[in-house]
Amino acid sequence: MFADQLGPHFLDEPGQPVLLVESKAVFRRRAFHRQKAHLVLSALRHRAAELKDQAHLVRAETYAEAVRATDSPLSVCHPTSRGARDLVRRLGVEVLAPRGFATSPQDFTAWAASRRGLRMEDFYRDARRRHGILMEGAEPAGGSWNLDADNREPPPRGARHLDVPDPPAITEDEIDHGVREDLDRWQRDDGIEFIGRDGPRMFPATRREALARLRHFVTHRLPIFGPYEDAMLAGDPLMAHSLLSAPLNLGLLDPLEVVERAEAAYRSGAAPLNSVEGFVRQIIGWRDFVWHLYWHFEPGYHRSNKLGATTPLPKWFAELDADAVEARCLSDVLAGVRDRGWVHHIPRLMVLGNYAMQRGWRPGAMADWFHRAFVDGYEWVMTANVVGMSQYADGGRMSTKPYAGGGSYVNRMSDYCGGCRYDPKVRVGEKACPFTAGYWAFLERNEAALSGNHRMGQPLRGLHRLTDLDALVEQEKARGSRAP
Ligand code: FAD
Ligand code: SF4
Repeated sequence: MFADQLGPHFLDEPGQPVLLVESKAVFRRRAFHRQKAHLVLSALRHRAAELKDQAHLVRAETYAEAVRATDSPLSVCHPTSRGARDLVRRLGVEVLAPRGFATSPQDFTAWAASRRGLRMEDFYRDARRRHGILMEGAEPAGGSWNLDADNREPPPRGARHLDVPDPPAITEDEIDHGVREDLDRWQRDDGIEFIGRDGPRMFPATRREALARLRHFVTHRLPIFGPYEDAMLAGDPLMAHSLLSAPLNLGLLDPLEVVERAEAAYRSGAAPLNSVEGFVRQIIGWRDFVWHLYWHFEPGYHRSNKLGATTPLPKWFAELDADAVEARCLSDVLAGVRDRGWVHHIPRLMVLGNYAMQRGWRPGAMADWFHRAFVDGYEWVMTANVVGMSQYADGGRMSTKPYAGGGSYVNRMSDYCGGCRYDPKVRVGEKACPFTAGYWAFLERNEAALSGNHRMGQPLRGLHRLTDLDALVEQEKARGSRAP
């Protein structure tokens, strides 16, 4: 089992022998967030401890070394990256069908073959029908497939924190202490580098912890997940999100068991349909969709760069130096990544991704950064989310228009702007909001590439009405890669 295949559903029989590999080379190749390295090692070692004599945990420099040293024939569930799949094939390991996703490759291929454009909404409806999730016969529960219109509320006026309990803190144990000592030693003696700050483990490393988080979420947080799904509050980074991406991606939870519990909350009247539908859409819609796109798109997809964005990531961003940033939204979100290795979807898309796309930073470098800096980051999930959705580097193969937005979006959906030295309405000058100015500079720079997109017609007409465009473009050139 790879370290993202840790749940019971990755075993054929509960008692079968298991080889687990802890490879140090993985950490030499890339500077991961310290808390991500901790989480993955902790989860792997906890699983080995649970399986007792049934598991053989090999600490080796590389996977190949560990596999070659094993006499018995091996099989593994389909790995989650091309690199890992090719490696196990080369080593003669039998590759079984993938697990840990709701839709099989065959069902995805059959679905994709029958259409020209691949849209998540169609895929999601198909998945709902196939699994009978939130269905009344052939119709969607409540009569509507999509309750997104109810799920775009700004944060409640004047609130500093949503009225929901935070997930209960995780208690670290001896295994965590051992992981922390090892990582300290690797850093000190082996020259292995990490980014971000260490901190108490925030995410489940065992199935028991993952199930406890799932239960707590469904009971206490799911009911108001929906309306505030897109909202941000400076004092409440978690909002009502589930924080389940890390245990799902480690394989500790199966997506279908997660959505079935959410559906049960709707059926029993404990959670409203808009919240439950919104949550189910994220899991058997978005999560499965980006997984299949990773394999469906050609291997070179991750190098797509349709907008010709070639600027390297500046050091302050790459190294999570939130204190160098005055723009309140960006500083707070970057601090969240530095301190937790996690922020929710909208800060990822509309703050971090949006800022990078506006400045023309290299999409591939952004994908690599997200992969390393987030506790839930894996190659399969990065490619479509970062290269496609957040950077529009594929020219629209997975979204109908770039997710570019100015300060007015951040102002509407958060409480950041009130306490910021910039003003979301100002485009030019001392108080010019870097998101607002960056939005128009992005449109100006990419007008030719975007003019064929009918959804960009209105913004591009707005661009031509700006009387201060020349000054704005000069200002943004002068800002360059400096921290805003
Ligand atoms: P919730 O808001 O509670 O959503 C429930 C679950 O839905 C998540 O746990 C996750 O499993 C799934 N989900 C929702 N949206 C997506 C999506 N677009 N792709 C895949 N799964 C989704 N998700 C990751 O798991 N790993 C990543 O590295 C990652 N990087 C992202 C980078 C960018 C630029 C963007 C825009 C999105 C990224 N996402 C990623 C998707 C999403 O932001 C996170 O899954 C989510 O914020 C995790 O927090 P949560 O568990 O509280 O999610
Ligand atoms: Fe962010 Fe601009 Fe609002 Fe400041 S004014 S918080 S930079 S959007």
